[in-house]
Amino acid sequence: GHAFGPNPSPRIVMMGLRRGGKSSICQVMFHNMQPLDTLYIESTTAPTTSVFSSFIDFAVMELPGQINFTEAMIDAERIFSSCGALIYVIDSQDEYINSLANLHSIILHAVNANPNINIEVFIHKVDGLSEDFRLDAQRDITQRVTDELLDDGLVNVSISFHLTSIFDHSIYEAFSRVVQKLIPQLATLENLLNVLCQHSGIEKAFLFDIGSKIFVATDSSPMDIPTYEICTDFIDITVDMNNLYAIDRRPKPVTRNDAHTNNGTVSITNRLESIPQGRPIGSTSRLSNGVILYLQQMVKGLALVCLMRKESMPKIALVEYNIEFFRDALEQLWLIG
Ligand code: GDP
Repeated sequence: GHAFGPNPSPRIVMMGLRRGGKSSICQVMFHNMQPLDTLYIESTTAPTTSVFSSFIDFAVMELPGQINFTEAMIDAERIFSSCGALIYVIDSQDEYINSLANLHSIILHAVNANPNINIEVFIHKVDGLSEDFRLDAQRDITQRVTDELLDDGLVNVSISFHLTSIFDHSIYEAFSRVVQKLIPQLATLENLLNVLCQHSGIEKAFLFDIGSKIFVATDSSPMDIPTYEICTDFIDITVDMNNLYAIDRRPKPVTRNDAHTNNGTVSITNRLESIPQGRPIGSTSRLSNGVILYLQQMVKGLALVCLMRKESMPKIALVEYNIEFFRDALEQLWLIG
């Protein structure tokens, strides 16, 4: 996979104690598994590395506390040196003291191997906590982690905390933020989207990675979660509709038995593979409140998803003309890197 341009993809590594939710996050994000089906994923007992390729290159390493930590860390340091972000998953529904000790030593190794690495802490499974508890957990974890780093004299570590759950869109949003930090052309992309919106009567525009539903960029108008959710649902619908009559391209139905094979390594067809090559997907839909949803696949696995007022519909030819310019600009960006 490629990020923009010929540069190597941003690499993301995910770590955390067993049962924290790492495999579930990967299955939901990259293989479109239904959140409830993650109950049937078998937990792995050895340190594993699975690699997903989407718009980003993504490796998951599981480092349970029980195994020989130092030995595993020597391997890990090699990986840290070439990756942009380390996601650490903490189970917020469990005692998180052990996780915090594990996280602390991992941060020391990571920063030692790569001082520029972004540490991204996912305070996960917050669906089980009340609103108050969520904020308390976030405050408490942030405080403890940053205090310890201060004690070590580490003041320049780039570390962020995200509240996540696979049962809502928070996991996609957190992932999007993580990925966006790793895209050097982000400001240019946002500018391009701003220009497109201003000249086409578009209210809100997103650039999505179709395979993972990570949003790579959006214009600078305010974003709300319902809008974002509508867009991700629209991607699903468009991909499903697109695959409906594609001969032999239909994704195989996923059964629970599939999820059990190979020791918990689930092999489900990546949705992107099911999109016919060379024929970009696209669709337009009108919601009952008059809002128009518009999706066009751009370069690679990226799609432009826009919300427009119905007044823009008569001018759709102009909008599409402008979108062609936007696509050209993306291609240029891609070429120059
Ligand atoms: P791993 O060992 O870190 O890969 O953890 P798993 O992915 O095997 O997850 C362990 C358990 O946590 C599974 O039963 C999942 O269904 C559950 N789980 C994962 N994510 C969430 C979440 O966001 N909320 C809740 N409530 N449970 C989750």
